[in-house]
Amino acid sequence: MQIKNSAVSMIIEAENQKELEEIKLQFLGRSGRLTLTLKGITKIPAERRATVGQLANDVKDVIEDALEEKNLALKSQVSNQKKQSIDITNPGIKPDIGHLHPMTQVLNEVVDVFKSIGFQTADGPEIETDYYNFTALNMPPNAPSRDTQATLYLDTHDSKVEPGQILLRTQTSNMQVRIMEKIKPPVRTIVPGKVFRVDDVDASHSFEFWQLEGFMVDKNVKMTDLLGTIDYVLKKLMGEKTKIKFATTNFAFVEPGIDTYMECTVCKGKGCGFCKNSGWSEIMPAGMIHPNVLKAAGYDSQKVTGFAFAIGLSRLVTLRYGMDDLRLLTNPDLRILEQF
Ligand SMILES: [Zn+2]
Repeated sequence: MQIKNSAVSMIIEAENQKELEEIKLQFLGRSGRLTLTLKGITKIPAERRATVGQLANDVKDVIEDALEEKNLALKSQVSNQKKQSIDITNPGIKPDIGHLHPMTQVLNEVVDVFKSIGFQTADGPEIETDYYNFTALNMPPNAPSRDTQATLYLDTHDSKVEPGQILLRTQTSNMQVRIMEKIKPPVRTIVPGKVFRVDDVDASHSFEFWQLEGFMVDKNVKMTDLLGTIDYVLKKLMGEKTKIKFATTNFAFVEPGIDTYMECTVCKGKGCGFCKNSGWSEIMPAGMIHPNVLKAAGYDSQKVTGFAFAIGLSRLVTLRYGMDDLRLLTNPDLRILEQF
């Protein structure tokens, strides 16, 4: 028993194959402790010989099993260590490097295209007064045209501001009169930024989205200048083969007004949920600036004319990448963002 206990505890503590081999020799070798015990069995009285012999053989089995078990354990330990060891010839682990959001990438491109044809870029406030967002743009209080832009108003409780006078801008057009008040014609400006409307979120609508307002005022600016500008810009951004169509429409701050449609890139014109099965996506409402807007800015509408347009930037990004859902643009999931 003593032999068994000391052998097993030594085996458990063995740290490598060499030590294990030595333990084996010490107990089971030719002159090992257990071997000698077995050899000496003949000197034991005959009546006890069978019992002692059986006991010695059991101890031998236990020691052999313990040796085998420890042997396997040491081997797997060695192979694990090999796996963990560092191969310095391996290429290093690359740190994750981010990139610009698809929205910013497209925005930068749009700005570059307009810059190449002489448009300056301006920024403006997202919190706006009713005057610049509506009234100055030929949408006086109670004008039915306001109904098309469900508006988020700020609470003016406990302030001197009349209720309904401060709002989240519904359009980047809020900058038209602000800029014209400061600059004399000729003016060529774009205003990219976020706009806000009361809207249910679905694949092609959101309460917050990006727009890019643009306008030009000078002597003799004509509708054909507007159509040419839209055609040039959209084809630069979306490819020369992009199909574009115009339709007449009505907006309060332009006269006449047009709407620009681009063939849906999600379904290639066949019709899908994103384009409400029309095969076309409304991308750029536009028109000739209404004389009342020019007047509000202090311009002489007899001497100068101008055009204005608004690009649905968020929609342009989804169309550009064939995304079928506007909500992907505000999803922070890296598995989505890494694709662009
Ligand atoms: Zn479609």
